[in-house]
Amino acid sequence: MERESLEMDVVFVGAGPANLSGALHLARLVSDHNAAIENGAKEGKALGEVQIAVIEKGSSVGAHNLSGAVMDPRGLAELIPDFREQGAPLESEVKDDHFLYLTRKRAIRSPINPPPLNNHGYYIVSLNRLTAWLGEQCEAAGVNVFPEFPGAEMLFDDKERVVGIRTGDKGIDKEGKHKANYEPGVDLLAKVTVLGEGVRGSLTKKLVQRLGLDEGREPQVYSLGVKELWELPDDRYPAGRVTHTLGFPSDQWTYGGGWIYGLQNRVVNLGYVTGLDYRDPLIDPHAEFQKFKSHPFVAKLLAGGKMIRYGAKAIAAGGWNAMPQMFADGVLIVGDSAGFLNAARLKGIHSAIKSGMLAAETIFEALLNEDYSSATLQNYERRVKESWIAPELRRYRNFHAAFRHGRWLGMANAGLQYIFGGRAWGVFDRDHQEAGHEAMQKLSAYGYHGDELSQRYRDLRFDGQLTFNKVTDVYHAAVAHDEDQPAHLHVLDTNICATRCAEEYGNPCQRFCPAAVYEMVEANTPQDGARDAANSSKPRRQLQINFSNCVHCKTCDIMDPYQIINWVTPEGGGGPDYKGM
Ligand SMILES: Cc1cc2nc3c(=O)[nH]c(=O)nc-3n(C[C@H](O)[C@H](O)[C@H](O)COP(=O)(O)OP(=O)(O)OC[C@H]3O[C@@H](n4cnc5c(N)ncnc54)[C@H](O)[C@@H]3O)c2cc1C
Repeated sequence: MERESLEMDVVFVGAGPANLSGALHLARLVSDHNAAIENGAKEGKALGEVQIAVIEKGSSVGAHNLSGAVMDPRGLAELIPDFREQGAPLESEVKDDHFLYLTRKRAIRSPINPPPLNNHGYYIVSLNRLTAWLGEQCEAAGVNVFPEFPGAEMLFDDKERVVGIRTGDKGIDKEGKHKANYEPGVDLLAKVTVLGEGVRGSLTKKLVQRLGLDEGREPQVYSLGVKELWELPDDRYPAGRVTHTLGFPSDQWTYGGGWIYGLQNRVVNLGYVTGLDYRDPLIDPHAEFQKFKSHPFVAKLLAGGKMIRYGAKAIAAGGWNAMPQMFADGVLIVGDSAGFLNAARLKGIHSAIKSGMLAAETIFEALLNEDYSSATLQNYERRVKESWIAPELRRYRNFHAAFRHGRWLGMANAGLQYIFGGRAWGVFDRDHQEAGHEAMQKLSAYGYHGDELSQRYRDLRFDGQLTFNKVTDVYHAAVAHDEDQPAHLHVLDTNICATRCAEEYGNPCQRFCPAAVYEMVEANTPQDGARDAANSSKPRRQLQINFSNCVHCKTCDIMDPYQIINWVTPEGGGGPDYKGM
């Protein structure tokens, strides 16, 4: 079957707030320009019809978006100044802000909120509702929005210029053979391709490696947010209330904290962030969240309520010093894919929107100059540096790195950074931080033995009321993948799983994955059996990948200690179907 090619002018990969804002802003810049030329208000050449496409791997725009979220409206107000009147889906204005320190039994309220967590004037939103709405605004402005289209590969010309992307094939069975409904992916050719894949983008990762765009930067570091929505029986937690917590259940070497946001109709949204640079190989971010809920303060809040939704997603926390070069010939990187998130504030929607807008302004300039090379596209990075994003991110540039010294020194360091304009300990311009997976210690460093792998959570019970196991939670993420397709989680050497990883780390993929995708099971092939008999008295275990559970959080790609897990896009439309997240 022949592969179809479609010529667009600009292709945005990923329908998150960054790219939807970029596409919308670009469509408006072009139409305003054309109108001004036509009515004589401006001199020059009209651009004519500019074909703009946004592709999204989810089954609809919004289906794969998950966030907190308290949104700083600054970005949205620049994109759509009358967003309230236009009907932007806002849950509530933030009405009160609480910051709690949790000990094992107590919740101590801080008399003041740490300045980065001051949310006055902000809005609680559900990101997947907001992106669905932005998608509608894009379509109304003439942008082509294609859900169920994963960007599977970048296309380059012979001079290493990006010339578009190839979307994923459909209808391939788990053996790699074509099914009756086989449809090859389409080559979407574009003058400029914009990668807005969110955190740890699969195409972005490859592009950055191929072109060395992270040279001289700090390694990106990540956290994982695990989240549930709960319906409460009464109005005990009002819409607009925001609570952030520090302390229990994280240990002192694990960056972590909780959030509880009040939504409309007696729904609360709560979650827990665990730094994906933890040391203890037994840590399980999903279990940390379940423990968080079992704290008396949280358990009392949820008593009599019902869990209705679940999801998880990684967060790019490295900040300013970890951002790669964001342009190359024919390509720009926006939003979380480039690391625009402010980890101290746990906010990235406003800067994702702004980055998309700055990309759009640069592409508009490129269309006018008919130059899509780095010479013009580098102006995107200049625009970022001249915008309000730069001072905001520079101020917190060493924030996450501070916490590798432990919780208390981390807080002291973060305080000094705040006073001294982002300098680590108030002195150093740039603090080095290793990649998160390198921070994980071996079992032996913690004195753990192979049969004690559940000891960190031995007190945790999944009661099906307040606390849930992963499989129950994943059911509430409404995940669906066609099971007759190749696994989209490529483990480059499964032998390592059964041997070195089992011994050194106790297969931490079984714990860091919040969706029970990875399981070590007894080997069941005759070859494995023969090898076991020859090599060991213990039955050999092998990796089983339950890929259909995957919620696309990207944690495995990030946290695997040997970096042998490669997350690639599954068939279009597969994945979670988030609602209200
Ligand atoms: C748990 C958590 C809590 C957060 N809390 C807050 C908060 O309170 N306030 C705040 O402002 N920010 C918060 N953030 C951060 C915020 O959500 C992000 O900064 C923001 O969503 C980034 O937008 P984006 O457009 O770059 O990426 P995303 O929102 O991640 O969107 C990327 C889109 O691209 C799609 N995609 C990815 N790869 C491909 C591909 N190859 N082909 C096609 N489509 C693809 C994805 O499916 C997704 O729809 C939080 C994030 C998390 C995870």
